Amino acid sequence: MRAVRLTQVGKPLENADVPLPETGPTEVLIRVAAAGICHSDAHYRAGISKIDPLPMTLGHEVAGRVESVGREVGHVALGDRVCVHYLVSCGSCEFCVRGLEQFCRTGQMIGKHRDGGYAEFIKVPGSNVFPLPDEIPFEAGAIMMCSSATALHALKKARFKAGESIAIFGLGGLGFSALQLARAFDCEAVYVVEINPAKLASAASMGAIAIDARSADPVEQIKEATAGTGVDVALELIGSAKTMRQAVLCLGHLGRAALVGLTAESMSIFPYTELINKEAEIIGVSDHLATELPTLIELACSGKLRFPQETLRVVDLDAAKINAALDALQDSIDHVRTVIVPSK
Ligand SMILES: [Zn+2]
Ligand SMILES: [Zn+2]
Repeated sequence: MRAVRLTQVGKPLENADVPLPETGPTEVLIRVAAAGICHSDAHYRAGISKIDPLPMTLGHEVAGRVESVGREVGHVALGDRVCVHYLVSCGSCEFCVRGLEQFCRTGQMIGKHRDGGYAEFIKVPGSNVFPLPDEIPFEAGAIMMCSSATALHALKKARFKAGESIAIFGLGGLGFSALQLARAFDCEAVYVVEINPAKLASAASMGAIAIDARSADPVEQIKEATAGTGVDVALELIGSAKTMRQAVLCLGHLGRAALVGLTAESMSIFPYTELINKEAEIIGVSDHLATELPTLIELACSGKLRFPQETLRVVDLDAAKINAALDALQDSIDHVRTVIVPSK
């Protein structure tokens, strides 16, 4: 089968011809219908996040049809539309038994520690396969498994509830999902902080208050818009110390800042005036849980979580095209996600 693989860190991905994976009794073989190209994949290629072993087929945002199914897998059948939970966990370590599989002692990420969806077929454990209703396009089903899932996990970690206001820093794949999820959960007001004009326009068209960080300090703008109160929840989805600090500073009393974006920079806070006084909280967010996926699938089914065709770019399963899409992620892209749809 065709696959697009990372052979050497710091080098472009390569087209490869690899054997069709053999599946065991608890596994499922999926014919990939859509695979999202994620910022993390650019980090693996660049060597910013360590990837092991090589060569590796990237791709952790995957949806498709069941091609073959192990005899011990009962919840999906041949030909079913499915999407894939990207964390493969042991199910028995002290974290897994508490439903915290993101910390699994021997956890593996699909497309990082084991071959992913930049291929015609992918083999995954049956427990990682979720049925994808007909109402949800494959492209949306794939993207939801990463960006929407992490956005939902961030909202849950921040204990976001109906009637609260929220500031979202960055309208990429995560922000685009977070905005829709916040609205689905009956938020009061959503502020979207961005510097990309196309994304500011798209935030406004989705009912958010667009905060242009190029024109003035976003914290001042949010304070002004909330009559000095600040917001209940802030999500930092960019991964810079500057925006992380802004996310904390725009909080009101009892506000919670959930930090999702990755950075190696350190961030400074004045504890008394910026946290203690307000009983504000800073919360780290890592990945998501399999138990959160059914909520997403339900919201997508009812049309509350959507990835309209104009927000996506589609490319074929081809190394040159995928490398170009990964290159583009180094700057701010105007669309939400590029998705690989392998030609037949
Ligand atoms: Zn991803
Ligand atoms: Zn485990």
